[in-house]
Amino acid sequence: MAVDTALIWFRRDLRLHDNSVLVDAARAEALLPVYCFDPREYGTADFGGPDSFRYEKTGGHRAQFRRESVTDLRDSLRAAGSDLLVAHGRPETVLPALVSTTDADAVFFQTLPTSEERTTERAVTARLREEGVAVHRLWTHTLVHLADLPTPYTDIDDTFTPFRKRVESSSTTRDPLDVPTLPPLPSATSSIERATFETLPSLSTLGVEDPPVDERRSLDFDGGESAGRDRLAAYLWDRDCLRVYKETRNGLLGADYSSKFSPWLNEGCLSPRFVNVEVDRYEAERVANDSTYWLLFELLWRDFFQFQFLKHGNRFFARGGIRNRTDIEWRTDGEAETAFGRWAAGETGVPFVDAIMRELNRTGFVSNRGRQNAASFLANNLRVDWRWGAAYFETQLVDYDPCSNYGNWAYIAGVGNDSRDRYFDVVKQAKQYDEQATYVTHWLPELAALPPETVHEPWRLSPDEQTQYGVELGVDYPRPVVDVEASYEKLR
Ligand SMILES: Cc1cc2nc3c(=O)[nH]c(=O)nc-3n(C[C@H](O)[C@H](O)[C@H](O)COP(=O)(O)OP(=O)(O)OC[C@H]3O[C@@H](n4cnc5c(N)ncnc54)[C@H](O)[C@@H]3O)c2cc1C
Repeated sequence: MAVDTALIWFRRDLRLHDNSVLVDAARAEALLPVYCFDPREYGTADFGGPDSFRYEKTGGHRAQFRRESVTDLRDSLRAAGSDLLVAHGRPETVLPALVSTTDADAVFFQTLPTSEERTTERAVTARLREEGVAVHRLWTHTLVHLADLPTPYTDIDDTFTPFRKRVESSSTTRDPLDVPTLPPLPSATSSIERATFETLPSLSTLGVEDPPVDERRSLDFDGGESAGRDRLAAYLWDRDCLRVYKETRNGLLGADYSSKFSPWLNEGCLSPRFVNVEVDRYEAERVANDSTYWLLFELLWRDFFQFQFLKHGNRFFARGGIRNRTDIEWRTDGEAETAFGRWAAGETGVPFVDAIMRELNRTGFVSNRGRQNAASFLANNLRVDWRWGAAYFETQLVDYDPCSNYGNWAYIAGVGNDSRDRYFDVVKQAKQYDEQATYVTHWLPELAALPPETVHEPWRLSPDEQTQYGVELGVDYPRPVVDVEASYEKLR
């Protein structure tokens, strides 16, 4: 059906390349691009459900990245002859008002799998349908399209390996779409206050504190499609890192041990299908090996959790998870609150965990290895309600995605997509992946004077050794929040 005037509502698809929502919307005679900073995504909120608690939805790292991404999108739209109206309000209020101002007959937007996003979509759809406006919702954010899965999503396997094998043998990945020619803005746009095209709500207007800037960060995460494409070009082509990705991906320090694509993938600044064709090109022009395959393997993990959330919905956010486990006693008492506070602040007295949490707090990013260990320590050693930790990651992570975050947390807490208990021995892991304690002392300089072989277990230092090295436990660095050995005995 021919569309005269359309709106495109950008969500977590902040890009022009490979954006099927934009391609479809651009067929209209006139098009108004819109982005809404939804106040419900900022400030404190109830987690919801039984045993709810309060937490901050979006911290400074991600809010800043998002603002930069929206600014970059606006610049790109302008360069393509269009523009971006930026509103601070609920989409179900903002969009119908703009439809009425511009007399639009259709609205196009991305659909997402999780409940809060779906609730907003339903509210928007209901309001627009009341006005007789056509609504087009498109699935755009996975490597493999929802419609190309080998089975309906309701039948996908709950374990990753069989899911991946079926997808790899039966599904194809679509090619990325070209950037369309953009139609002009609707003529009625001239009646809209110009400031809405010029300004973005500040972090303080959003109720978010400025994020810290720390020289020790692994990479500058600048938001936006341009920076995302630059990062891809640097990682694959300039620095040629992809050829060794499988060997380096368990690293902890520096820009290049892993791709660092996640913040851009999650805000939709990078399309996974674009990453896929770039990997294909790299394989044709440079090398095809286990490492080049492994990046796509990891993108299938990302897809897996997206489809899992579509299948299981809010059960993922329940304490017992999708397996409805009732045999684990999660702690939520005052002692658990204290332990949680120390974990969140990076003050557990277990150096590897503390380094990870301090990196998270200071930069919004942590390696996969770090996330696994920090999550396992809270959920398994401390047995604190794992959702408190997942919600804390939700606040802090620059690359937070509901499916990847809660899916991975549930997995590690033993209530998600795996029938085995998935605890990590954090001291063993520290010794294996940070043998010289370089990572730990990068984030915990107070331990730098210790011989590397003692750093990961400072509680073993005798009083004389503490004096000799100038690290007094309980003064310069905390005593452990839990008897680490005993906490593993309980899990074995
Ligand atoms: C407790 C916990 C919480 C996590 N929360 C998030 C989150 O909120 N957002 C997020 O994007 N990832 C999350 N991850 C997955 C993973 O840690 C990050 O995707 C990865 O560290 C990002 O760095 P990278 O882009 O350099 O990854 P690379 O190793 O370069 O991998 C490439 C891409 O594959 C995807 N990917 C890799 N590993 C996973 C995985 N285990 N699950 C899902 N996708 C994966 C990501 O999109 C990543 O960008 C979490 C993992 C754990 C253990």
